[in-house]
Amino acid sequence: MRSADFAERIDRVAKAISVKGHDFIFITPGADLRYLTGYDALPLERLTCLAVNSSGESWLIVPTLEKPSALAHGIPDMGITLIDWQETQNPYELLIASTGKVSNSLINNLMWAEKAFGIRDAIGSEIGLAGKVLSDIRAVKTVAEVTSLHEAGAAIDLVHNQIQNWLRPGRTEREVGRDIAEAILAAGHATVDFVIVGSGPNGASPHHELSDRTILAGEPVVVDIGGTMPNGYCSDSTRTYACGSVPTEYQEFYNILQSAQAAASAHAKPGVTCESVDRAARSVLEAGGLGDQFIHRTGHGIGMETHEEPYIVEGNETLLVPGHAFSIEPGFYFADKYGARIEDIVTCTETGIASANQTTRDLVIL
Ligand code: ZN
Ligand code: ZN
Repeated sequence: MRSADFAERIDRVAKAISVKGHDFIFITPGADLRYLTGYDALPLERLTCLAVNSSGESWLIVPTLEKPSALAHGIPDMGITLIDWQETQNPYELLIASTGKVSNSLINNLMWAEKAFGIRDAIGSEIGLAGKVLSDIRAVKTVAEVTSLHEAGAAIDLVHNQIQNWLRPGRTEREVGRDIAEAILAAGHATVDFVIVGSGPNGASPHHELSDRTILAGEPVVVDIGGTMPNGYCSDSTRTYACGSVPTEYQEFYNILQSAQAAASAHAKPGVTCESVDRAARSVLEAGGLGDQFIHRTGHGIGMETHEEPYIVEGNETLLVPGHAFSIEPGFYFADKYGARIEDIVTCTETGIASANQTTRDLVIL
């Protein structure tokens, strides 16, 4: 990304806060700061904070020891005034002394509480959460961001396509998970964000963590994996496998799930609501008698964070527009027995969706 592109993003945020009647927004390290500046500062106890006012002026305060890093990220080239603070200074007061009076400000939702209170005390007025001001901008991806998400999807597909090398009866979830984690990095990700290997009854827990349970022949295994690419965009894909043939009733349930995932994918297009995509999947599962076993929303937005707006859930009346990126991941979960989930990351196009994940959505018998 060029400095001008980041400057343009900051300008959009300035306009958005201005429209809502706010004079400042404060943003500490995390995905919001990376999105606006490309600066991947670590969230640490020392204050690093971007301030943007409604006219589009911006300041970044960093600890003096982080100044070389901020300079290396080209912060001044983006038109951002760089301020550094030394160990014995009060960074909050220094920041507000630079920005001038603040009266009606917002902070990013994931700011640490101690930073939020520090800013509030320095400006002497209440602060609000940025919420949709930032998420509405980040949720609609540019063409370059869509490309990045599809590259991340292709990378995680490479890993799913090798599962047969690692997943077999007699191995533990943890052993399989270790091999998958290595492959996530080998496929081009910079970090491994999560590896879920839910075998047999553990598949009934959607966010099961790796355990030392030994995988048995004939049981389904839910594999949900993701990482972050070097440019900051995330992958997230679930496929369900079985080591040997599964009970007939399970295959029947799985076929209903696959229809539900396909129905939601066929339904999603510009102009439909997020909640209607959820209903498209849910109604198929309900008709197939699996409504009570589908215990989570159909999906979540994805970008520089694995979970972000727009959420594909009942009650979200946001209309899809080209550039929205989100998961379609219905599942069914029978406690103490087994589970299944099929998850693709898709991006909304002018006419429908494009899937970032292309591996088979069939139950894969290994
Ligand atoms: Zn997932
Ligand atoms: Zn997901």
